[in-house]
Amino acid sequence: MHPVPPAAEGAVMIKRKHSAAMALAATLAVPAAVIPLSAHAASWRTCNGTPVKWGNTVNVHRNRCSIADSGIVNSAYWNGVGQWNSLSSVVDGFFVNGADDCSISHGDGQNEVGLVNRSVIDGNNGVTVLQLGVCFIGSNDIDEADVMIANDLSFTPQWGNFRGTTGRSTFVHEFGHFFGFLHEDAHDIMRTSPPHLLTGGAEPSTLWPSDSVGMNSLYGFSTSRPNLLPSALGVVGGVVQTLDPATTVAMCRGSSSTTRVYLGNYGNIGSGTFNLRVRLSTTSPTAGYSGSTGVASSFTHSLGAFSQGTYDLSFTVPMGLANGTYFIYHDMDQTGTITELREGDNSTVSAKKILVNC
Ligand SMILES: [Zn+2]
Repeated sequence: MHPVPPAAEGAVMIKRKHSAAMALAATLAVPAAVIPLSAHAASWRTCNGTPVKWGNTVNVHRNRCSIADSGIVNSAYWNGVGQWNSLSSVVDGFFVNGADDCSISHGDGQNEVGLVNRSVIDGNNGVTVLQLGVCFIGSNDIDEADVMIANDLSFTPQWGNFRGTTGRSTFVHEFGHFFGFLHEDAHDIMRTSPPHLLTGGAEPSTLWPSDSVGMNSLYGFSTSRPNLLPSALGVVGGVVQTLDPATTVAMCRGSSSTTRVYLGNYGNIGSGTFNLRVRLSTTSPTAGYSGSTGVASSFTHSLGAFSQGTYDLSFTVPMGLANGTYFIYHDMDQTGTITELREGDNSTVSAKKILVNC
């Protein structure tokens, strides 16, 4: 196995040296580089040089009128707040308003979250209304934040190569504003407008290193761990695109090609060496994410804290593969050897498919 060569620095300028991998009698494939990812850090308001953030513990009130106690919108709400709050535990109380309370009031000291008609938020997918103290002497806090999400969005989890708008990612984005973060057009959830960047798995709407580094700066991590996550999408020329073209390519058994993938670590410590592979499967997501047959190449790699890069991974169609149309999956730490902040986000699926017929 050969290590993946280092790509660009990630969210913070951390350079890691890559030690030579052990020579194993197995697949070897040397990935080419790379789309350079410029270093980005999250951004926030400041007052006299200190961040404008939550100064004390925070309560969140779910609007039961528009977010039911179960179902797909409910899980989108919990993912939206949980993606951030699981890192730092800023919120210490979750409450539910009465089902007959369908209004979201600003300036009443209660942090409310609900769905609204799009016309209420000027046609936006989501809006977060912050109440900030006046910056005068010393620091300044967020006093109140109300999150409103357009009720005509789809809240269904999408495949990892979906390029568009999702209500689930809108929840994650708006909760970024809730915690004090501003727009930033990097590889992150705080991009000004869709398409949204997705990882794979059952819950593809997530944070990225350029988001989590901000949580670390403002609130600190409550647990020090890496979190590996791949993406079939990337920011190319300032635009979110599928890193592989959305086409089906005919290939014979034994022939080789490459697939392009984003690899990130949004945790606050380096990953150490992890395993990485390209896998071909006729099973579509989400069931296909957990497959283990059709392995077409294997690598080792490591990613520093809050770092990321984009790689071309070579692979060879296995000789034993049956004729068929195959999804290309990217699996990080498929051996499960890295203890991460979050599991279930280590595999994604390319927009490219392979037709094997020779
Ligand atoms: Zn926004």
